[in-house]
Amino acid sequence: MAYAPAELLAKTAPEARLREERSLRNMLLKYEAILENASIGIGFTRDQRFEHVNPRFEEMLGWPRGTLAGQPGYVVWRSRQEYAEIGAYVGPLLARGQCVDFEHEILRRDGGSFLARIRAKSVDPTHPTKGGTIWIVEDITEHRRSVEALRRAHDELEIRVRERTEALAEANARLRDEIAERETAERRIRHLAHHDVLTGLPNRRLLHKRLEQALGDARDSGGHAAVIFIDLDRFKTINDSLGHAVGDALLKAVAVRLTEVLRPGDTVSRMGGDEFVLVLGSAAGPDDATAVSDRLLECLSRPYEITGYSLRVTPSIGISVFPRDGEDAETLLSRADAAMYHAKAEGRHCFRFFTEQVHRASTQRLQLENELHGAVARGELLLHYQPRFDLIHRTFVAAEALIRWQHPTRGMISPAEFIPLAEETGLIHPIGRWVLEEACRQQRAWRERGFCPGSIAVNLSAQQFRSADLAGSVGSILGDAGIEPEAIELEITESTLMHDSGQTLATLQALASLGIRISIDDFGTGYSSLAYLKRFPVHLLKIDRSFVRDIPANTDDATIVRAITGLAGSLGLRVVAEGVENEAQVRFLQGIGCDEGQGFLFAPPMPADELERRFAHCGATRTPRAR
Ligand code: C2E
Ligand code: MG
Ligand code: MG
Repeated sequence: MAYAPAELLAKTAPEARLREERSLRNMLLKYEAILENASIGIGFTRDQRFEHVNPRFEEMLGWPRGTLAGQPGYVVWRSRQEYAEIGAYVGPLLARGQCVDFEHEILRRDGGSFLARIRAKSVDPTHPTKGGTIWIVEDITEHRRSVEALRRAHDELEIRVRERTEALAEANARLRDEIAERETAERRIRHLAHHDVLTGLPNRRLLHKRLEQALGDARDSGGHAAVIFIDLDRFKTINDSLGHAVGDALLKAVAVRLTEVLRPGDTVSRMGGDEFVLVLGSAAGPDDATAVSDRLLECLSRPYEITGYSLRVTPSIGISVFPRDGEDAETLLSRADAAMYHAKAEGRHCFRFFTEQVHRASTQRLQLENELHGAVARGELLLHYQPRFDLIHRTFVAAEALIRWQHPTRGMISPAEFIPLAEETGLIHPIGRWVLEEACRQQRAWRERGFCPGSIAVNLSAQQFRSADLAGSVGSILGDAGIEPEAIELEITESTLMHDSGQTLATLQALASLGIRISIDDFGTGYSSLAYLKRFPVHLLKIDRSFVRDIPANTDDATIVRAITGLAGSLGLRVVAEGVENEAQVRFLQGIGCDEGQGFLFAPPMPADELERRFAHCGATRTPRAR
């Protein structure tokens, strides 16, 4: 570095000069020390050459100590062109006296380079080239590297955070989906637990809750609440004859109509089968219940168009009212149920309130049900026999076994009263078995005494007909009694036959292959056509009493009976007219070629010994003798 102390000294007085000289030397030594020990590179150029550089400068650029001074400026740049470009950028700024800061690659002597932060400043801005330039150079490779590393680490961190955030967001979304799914499933389960699957109406459980609520409200307000029990008349017949799919569709349609009758605050529920219950809240009393029941009778009885059928069902309705008929849900429900039974007993398609009379009847019914359980074991059941007559020859050809219950206190109870009860409770199975065994035993006993009443017809309920391996158990009962299959006929009703399943045909075929003849009872009350019967191995048709009652006067009935007889004859079936009570009927039936008649005109049902006494002399001849 070049200063001109001599010139300065010449202008000062000797003493002061000495002082100044000392102070200058000190200053020089200080600057020298600063330069020598600076940890950054400091260089001084003039006329595009290095004039002086400190040790750090040379060390950074890889020049041995003292070798850079005198070298041209471009030696520290990677090319002359770069040197020129830097000069073009820095020169004008320096000329304006500005301090120039920039970063650039600096060339080391060994050909390598490093990144440097450079600060350049003219020593004398008025003569930038003449006065020379100071270059302060700092190796920022490490610094840059660590900044880079920091940036990379930061970027990586950012990426990680982003990835993690995305993963979390995904997990969060999955969790939300799962929660939503679970909530939907729980809602479904809750709905299923409280609703009927077929109709979607509240089920028994939810009904109980709503009823409790309605009762709570009524208690608080001192008002009423009403329970309306609805049962569809003869729904079972439709279900049995047209199949469950039609039955289900009908129940759904009924449910829709029920909800139409509903008022705000009411609940309608399906209790199972064809039973529905309405709870009228909002302090509904007997008058409201009457109004709603009237609407129900009207609205539920309109025809239903279902898969090509126009179906009619009517409701029987029972009503109980809080607090008059009961204080709690159970009592009110069972009393509305009892009132509904009463409505059925009074001819169906009507509504009845719970009354003391209903109470007595339902208690009796319950008692009857209990007593029926032990009736077989106690030997209270017996069979009466009603003969069938050939209409041309007026001869006794067969007999129908009809069950009776000899009740210890109530006397003789008709099957119309206890067979439906037996069917409801499942008791029909042991009872039906007993009937067949007893009829076979009686047939055998008669044969042994030489009395041949022709075949004995035994009624089978729909449930019995559908029990597993009917033919097997019938066969073994016949075998045990030691009589031929031809000695027994089985009567099934038209609606039982029409239950559209492969099982019906299979059961009939199995019975036919045993040699047992099948009769269709109560024919005409169902929906079957005669052509439909062709599919089944049946032998005999019994025209229902309701068609026979008013012939020949009622021309509609006369036409029906004539048509059934004609068509049955053409299908090779024998025809029996049920409920023959007068000679006019007989003459008409003879005229149209009906084969047989059964009815009070010929003989009512009677005990076995009476039948034997009255008809032993004219015993049927068509029946084979006992084995
Ligand atoms: P069903 O099989 O149609 O039997 C004929 C019914 O008509 C009998 O009634 C009989 O007494 C009645 N009857 C016969 N002739 C006349 C007549 O001229 N005029 C009138 N008004 N009625 C007549 P019952 O004995 O009361 O039986 C009623 C129904 O109970 C039977 O109708 C049958 O469906 C059922 N039943 C009877 N015994 C049994 C049985 O052992 N098992 C099953 N599952 N059902 C039975
Ligand atoms: Mg019968
Ligand atoms: Mg009948």
